[in-house]
Amino acid sequence: PLILGIETSCDETGVGIVRGHTLLADALASSVEEHARFGGVVPEVASRAHLEAIVPTMDRALTEAGVTLADIDAIAVTSGPGLAGALLVGVAAAKGYALAAEKPVYGVNHLAAHVAVDTLEHGPLPEPAIALLVSGGHSSLLLVDDLARGVTPLGATIDDAAGEAFDKVARLLGLPFPGGPPIDREARAGDAASIAFPRGLTAAKDLAAHRYDFSFSGLKTAVARWVEARQRAGEPVPVADVAASFQEAVCDVLTSKALAACRAQGIETLVIGGGVAANSRLRAMAEQRAEKYGIQVRVPRPKLCTDNGAMVAALGSHLVAAGVAPSRLYLPADSALPLTTVSV
Ligand code: ATP
Ligand code: MG
Ligand code: FE
Repeated sequence: PLILGIETSCDETGVGIVRGHTLLADALASSVEEHARFGGVVPEVASRAHLEAIVPTMDRALTEAGVTLADIDAIAVTSGPGLAGALLVGVAAAKGYALAAEKPVYGVNHLAAHVAVDTLEHGPLPEPAIALLVSGGHSSLLLVDDLARGVTPLGATIDDAAGEAFDKVARLLGLPFPGGPPIDREARAGDAASIAFPRGLTAAKDLAAHRYDFSFSGLKTAVARWVEARQRAGEPVPVADVAASFQEAVCDVLTSKALAACRAQGIETLVIGGGVAANSRLRAMAEQRAEKYGIQVRVPRPKLCTDNGAMVAALGSHLVAAGVAPSRLYLPADSALPLTTVSV
């Protein structure tokens, strides 16, 4: 079946088209530059940008795939979680197109879509798998038994998301928003062993209660203190070394907890998704560490890790193949859609 996916949960307007696991189109319009001077996404600005971009992005995707709306078998749309006003634009558009073209519509979970997108790169996901979901607003470890019907959370961040930590640290280093890409770039020229930043929730006493949980706010504070001390002393801040050492701490914690979950449950597949999965060090470290346990790491190409329409289409395609019933036409935009609800 031919599935069209619409994504508008944050600052990217995305429309993707897939046939089975094959990506046919992935059109994207981003309002990221409009938010950059505020150092974060401004909800009202994002909603307005989605409204302007949704129809042209839809048209671009159909043209890119060489199909018409009549050829589409089902429309999938991000129902949540995300910014309420931003979600509403995509959900309203999906309903309009579905009603006009008499197509079934699936309201799907953005986070499950971050996991499902890997099928476009590596084919069907072996289940059970462990998923490490690391994005701008979320950081979770999930047990994926049946992606079409639900995921089981094993742990999550107790404070900041991994992407949020990248964004905040970038800001205090004077790097642009979003912070992940510039930190990734700076870190390549830095020494990751130069500063010993803390690894949150990895001490024996924390592991007892927080085996698969994450904490990044202490790390962010440690980086801030370190940078402030340098500035107070009138010394230059070695941006590349700080970036590399910070990134190393994040990747160390993420990969060690994800692989520990795989080993404890006897699971041989680790899939990594979400914007932070685009991080070059995270990808390399996960693969390198997994190898010695015989665990296979699946991470889609960076462009599919950050928000896009293809991921929504990929999850829609998976739901259709699994025989999941479509949503009602009055499906909600739910800014707080729980991680365990894969489709509404
Ligand atoms: P969520 O998926 O939780 O709703 P979101 O959709 O805003 O949040 P994504 O687009 O999935 O988030 O990811 C954006 C985040 O990924 C940002 O915090 C950004 O800094 C981070 N990111 C992007 N590229 C990289 C990279 N190369 N290294 C580290 N972080 C990155
Ligand atoms: Mg974004
Ligand atoms: Fe996302």
